[in-house]
Amino acid sequence: MSQPASFSLAGKVALVTGANTGLGQGIAIALAQAGADIVGVARSSTVDTERGVTAAGRKFHSLYADLERSHEAHQLVARAIDSAGRVDILINNAGIIRRNDALVFTEQDWDAALNVNLKTPFFLAQAVAQSMVNAGRGGKIINIASMLSFQGGIRTASYTASKSGIAGVTRLLANEWAAYGINVNAIAPGYFETNNTTALRADEQRNKDILARIPAGRWGKPSDLGGAAVFLASAASDYVHGTILPVDGGWLSR
Ligand code: NAP
Repeated sequence: MSQPASFSLAGKVALVTGANTGLGQGIAIALAQAGADIVGVARSSTVDTERGVTAAGRKFHSLYADLERSHEAHQLVARAIDSAGRVDILINNAGIIRRNDALVFTEQDWDAALNVNLKTPFFLAQAVAQSMVNAGRGGKIINIASMLSFQGGIRTASYTASKSGIAGVTRLLANEWAAYGINVNAIAPGYFETNNTTALRADEQRNKDILARIPAGRWGKPSDLGGAAVFLASAASDYVHGTILPVDGGWLSR
């Protein structure tokens, strides 16, 4: 009988956007614990993440970027390869949310979320995939989706558009790039304790309503995403293409 596929990321380099905090930090540390070196992309200090990665015995390369500037995506991947030698895994994690009624939603709030959450991830994926194809090897691209890749949400017009869009683009890229040995998948987190949900958790009624609807009965913690990220980044998922994997405490099953 053959051995089960490996979850080890030894010898791999992962580029993680928004690596300074929240889910990006949790994913970067989990990938490092599985053996990967990390290129952490952020516009804020990454010292905490670097500490977690080096504590796992892996290298950490820090790159500054404002990911609203999608035209710099190719340059950013070139800088990552200069610094770490290669990129085997891309985690498109950085994201923003803008909340307002659709009746008065501004173009600025629309463009900001669409750029960071959808346009830049597409061009980062393109640049990383080009480097993989040119090097004649495959790799793993993981987009961070949302419950609003499946549901409409409320007062989150640009966020819902971007997260529904990233689910579609994940499937499209999986179709185009599976033949190159590149797996493109997404993780759809439920409700997690990060800066992204500070406003929700601070609203007593919304917090209560959300908790009552989560079968697991608690908000997720960044470390709760580690297993899914390592799975989708490793050889264990070599035959998994175009899936949007919910890690949501059961939210979607209600
Ligand atoms: P977070 O703590 O607010 O982290 C967002 C990350 O994106 C931060 O590192 C942030 O940098 C970075 N970022 C935003 N705009 C950027 C820009 N223009 N340039 C560079 N970096 C930028 O939120 P999070 O919850 O960890 O979010 C991570 C991902 O998970 C996002 O895609 C989010 O939509 C998704 N998600 C979160 C939840 C949840 O419940 N928390 C649920 C579903 C999906 P700064 O720290 O410098 O702002």
